[in-house]
Amino acid sequence: MPIVPVAYAVSRWGEDPWSRGSWSLIGRHGSPADRVQLGTPVGTRLRIAGEATHPTRSGMTHGAYEKGVEAGIWAAELGHRRVAVVGAGMAGLGAARELMARGVSVQVFEARERLGGRTAGVDLDGCTFDLGANWLQQYDENVLARLAERLGLTTTVTDFNDPREPGPVASEAGLEQALHDRLQAAPAGASVADVLSEWLQSPEPWTPLAIRRYVDAEITMDTGAPLEWLSARHGFEAGVGEGDAWITGSYRLLVDHLADGLDVRLGHPVQSIRVESDGVHLTGLAIDHRADAIIVTAPVNVLAADVIHFEPPLPAAHRAALGRLGMGRVEKVILRFDERFWPEHTSGYYRIHGPDEGSVSEWLDATAADGNPTLVGLFAGPWLDALWARPDAEIAGAAAQIVHSAGW
Ligand SMILES: Cc1cc2nc3c(=O)[nH]c(=O)nc-3n(C[C@H](O)[C@H](O)[C@H](O)COP(=O)(O)OP(=O)(O)OC[C@H]3O[C@@H](n4cnc5c(N)ncnc54)[C@H](O)[C@@H]3O)c2cc1C
Repeated sequence: MPIVPVAYAVSRWGEDPWSRGSWSLIGRHGSPADRVQLGTPVGTRLRIAGEATHPTRSGMTHGAYEKGVEAGIWAAELGHRRVAVVGAGMAGLGAARELMARGVSVQVFEARERLGGRTAGVDLDGCTFDLGANWLQQYDENVLARLAERLGLTTTVTDFNDPREPGPVASEAGLEQALHDRLQAAPAGASVADVLSEWLQSPEPWTPLAIRRYVDAEITMDTGAPLEWLSARHGFEAGVGEGDAWITGSYRLLVDHLADGLDVRLGHPVQSIRVESDGVHLTGLAIDHRADAIIVTAPVNVLAADVIHFEPPLPAAHRAALGRLGMGRVEKVILRFDERFWPEHTSGYYRIHGPDEGSVSEWLDATAADGNPTLVGLFAGPWLDALWARPDAEIAGAAAQIVHSAGW
């Protein structure tokens, strides 16, 4: 009997024109210096911010927020009185709040009809779940975790070291260190795929399957990028770890708080930014706006696709940095059922490998959040590519079947 979810939601970050991927990554010819370069002010009136510009907290909400705040301080300290911000994700909201707090007039232009960017709360019959960012990562040093605490939000810690997998699990002892050592020893310009193919030629003491699955779980799931593209030395960045916690009721609770009091124009995509000697001029759908300076927080794949026309063009060093960065694709499916059919597990975290090499899914049991049996699944690799070619209802059905027939 097919198992059918009673409610579901499916993300489409890869196809979304305002994200074009899930989070930024460093390609084989890049390094964290490219993140720093991208975030370096262009003169005194233009600055790119956002998660991609953080050298140590990239790909995460708090890194985005920190870079937004930093850009806001930069603009205010230069004495700008009217500042435009492109994007109402964590970076844009961070920048705008900082500017507002310093008495600067700030106008935020957001392409989508909603706030939050790559954080997106979806309502599933009365309970809200995250279709984008889920966890507060690097919890102890996470500025948004401190905000969640101040607001009294309920959070749940996930133990990523203890995922339950169906069937026998190959020993992973020593694999973490071996992978880390091999990636760090790789020559400049090498990809993760280069390292993996050399390793598989003499895999002992592990089996090739154990190594592949470990790389799928640690790197493919964490990046969603083709391993041939991803930098061996820099592609596997700090992030997921012990203490990561997710918010009951979703990131929307933080976003709404941060946006309170800000002037945000939703449904206003910026199409061109002209930097002049006495200010900036931006245009777009229903936009003809002048300001003293501008902070742009569009994701790297949006910038690389030239969705925004810059005049004069971005400097060569910024373009080069952009070319060495990119984004992977990790998608989410949220499934609500009438009855629970998967096993209880202390960490509430599950992993199921796909039928093909390089395919993996991970699952968070979110039942405790609202009392209804609910799973949040993340997919990456060729499995994702095959599933996400289908309509949402079919993805949800297929994903439910994967958990149901996993053979716990
Ligand atoms: C599936 C998924 C899971 C994730 N899980 C986590 C997690 O658990 N923890 C974590 O910390 N992070 C996670 N992340 C990453 C996190 O969501 C991002 O790093 C962070 O939200 C990025 O914030 P940002 O402000 O830099 O960019 P965005 O949130 O992308 O904001 C940029 C904004 O700019 C807007 N925009 C783009 N172009 C234009 C334009 N031309 N004109 C006007 N507006 C424009 C966009 O619509 C968007 O709102 C996840 C992301 C995804 C997709």
